[in-house]
Amino acid sequence: MQVPAQVEYEKASSVSHALSLLARYGPEARILAGGHSLIPMMKLRLAQPEVLVDVNGLADLRFIRVAGGELRIGTLTTHAQLLDSALAAGHFAILRDAERVIADPIVREWGTVGGSLCQADPSEDLSAAFAALKGTMIIAGPGGKREVSAREFHTGPYETVVGPVEMLTEVRLPVKAGAGTAYVKVSRRAGDWPVGAAGAALWLDRAGVITDAGIGLTALGAQHFVAAEAEDYLRGRRPGPEAFAEAGAIAAANCRPAADQRGPEDYKRHLAGELTRRALAVAARRAGWGEGTGLGERTP
Ligand SMILES: Cc1cc2nc3c(=O)[nH]c(=O)nc-3n(C[C@H](O)[C@H](O)[C@H](O)COP(=O)(O)OP(=O)(O)OC[C@H]3O[C@@H](n4cnc5c(N)ncnc54)[C@H](O)[C@@H]3O)c2cc1C
Repeated sequence: MQVPAQVEYEKASSVSHALSLLARYGPEARILAGGHSLIPMMKLRLAQPEVLVDVNGLADLRFIRVAGGELRIGTLTTHAQLLDSALAAGHFAILRDAERVIADPIVREWGTVGGSLCQADPSEDLSAAFAALKGTMIIAGPGGKREVSAREFHTGPYETVVGPVEMLTEVRLPVKAGAGTAYVKVSRRAGDWPVGAAGAALWLDRAGVITDAGIGLTALGAQHFVAAEAEDYLRGRRPGPEAFAEAGAIAAANCRPAADQRGPEDYKRHLAGELTRRALAVAARRAGWGEGTGLGERTP
């Protein structure tokens, strides 16, 4: 039987305390949030930190609130708390759509928004949603806080811009009029990681024209979860089945999916197009678009 690797344990009492512990122990120290990614990685010896800095006591990082024209989510907010938040779903239905299909109730009870984002799995769901919403990440470090676009947060699979003596503390999502959002995912069974998924955000003006669009793809090889060419195509157009189908085709043509245990490349490319099309249609309806009328039918 393999003996578990030795690891030191420290409990942080504040963000600055967590940062000072990270600075004291150096690159072999790791933040421990819900542990649902890190502990399995340690069991498999894919991660071998020498020190765990437990941040679960930082209650001031567990919040969902509106301030400064943004929906702000503290990074210790659990998936379950985000799923249950009427405030979050009221502003961005995409968040409830996504949380409903992330893992199972046990993982959602412990897993945090920050842990999900910082684990940076290329199949992770929330990153696609936050990329679609054009969010901003707040990162605390020894010199204070800095802001990074959700679209620049990931530098590659399992890699982010968060440095060894930094901590992600908050996600901020701009609240603007005329928004409709949606997330659609295909997985092999309930609670599983996606074969592919698409998140869409559309902003319509009073005339029903798309003023801005956000499309995030996950598990589909999108560059930092963004289907930028499809977004460019949609801006300035009217919503409609043709526009959504074309945006889906553009997203499919520009993504670079890699075959994995959940699906082959050509199926994933097909999903990129089809899921983008479907997410856009739901997002547009939620923004008030009614087929044939330009604007009108508002769905809850
Ligand atoms: C069975 C199972 C099914 C799953 N299915 C899905 C799924 O369908 N979709 C999906 O998207 N995810 C899925 N997940 C992943 C799950 O969402 C994550 O495991 C969980 O959210 C990670 O959060 P955590 O708080 O447990 O992070 P931890 O495991 O504690 O940490 C993960 C990593 O992030 C770092 N970290 C944590 N918080 C911070 C912070 N604030 N600042 C800087 N670094 C930080 C840690 O040091 C560590 O490297 C699944 C997981 C399991 C176990």
